[in-house]
Amino acid sequence: MFKFGPGYRSSLILSLCVLLVFIALARAPYVTPLKKNYTPQEVRHFLHTSIGTGWDLYGRERIIKWTGDIRIRCYGEVEAADVKTINYIAYQFKRLTKRPGIAMNDENANMKFFFIPEEQITFHLGDKHEREFEYGAICKPIDKNGVLVEAKIFIPAEARGERRDMLIKHEMAHCLGLMNHNKYPGSYLYQGSEHSQARAFHAMDKVALQLLYIPAVKPNMSWQQAEEVLRTKGLIK
Ligand SMILES: [Zn+2]
Repeated sequence: MFKFGPGYRSSLILSLCVLLVFIALARAPYVTPLKKNYTPQEVRHFLHTSIGTGWDLYGRERIIKWTGDIRIRCYGEVEAADVKTINYIAYQFKRLTKRPGIAMNDENANMKFFFIPEEQITFHLGDKHEREFEYGAICKPIDKNGVLVEAKIFIPAEARGERRDMLIKHEMAHCLGLMNHNKYPGSYLYQGSEHSQARAFHAMDKVALQLLYIPAVKPNMSWQQAEEVLRTKGLIK
């Protein structure tokens, strides 16, 4: 009579392990690996975009980034399309960095979208804020260590269609740590992008986010310190 021997059991266990690993990999978003190294132009773009000049509310020119997971919640006159756009940006961010995590989460949200009438936005902003164009607004409390601890994004409920979509993308990109505007048409951070269209992060924005969230690049680092870290790691061509 045939009996299941130890060999059969171990191959069954092995098959189960392979299946579990496969399921885990299939569920996790694919994270774009870092390139072997980056051109000086890419590194300059990363540093320019990530190190706030006029944007750092405390006047520091330092690396500012999230270190904990980002939990997003929407308030006000939010529409299904807004949630779709936010989820899309979050998905793209996940494709670029392993950490921090980012997801819609009503519990202890630290990235808050407010879809409220234009006239109410100024009332909600308080002193430490940044106002953009005549439309969107952001508020990015940053602690003394250069860590983004909370982001508030105000989108005028009156904004419609593609402008509303671009406002969400533009302000969210700022709040992910890309503080400055750039000169790349098609980027969410292109100056005046509320009048343009962008379907995805520009290649240069992807590089900036990837480099910003390398663990060795720490909050509060100066331009020179961050550049030195990348050079030490052989990431600059
Ligand atoms: Zn902006």
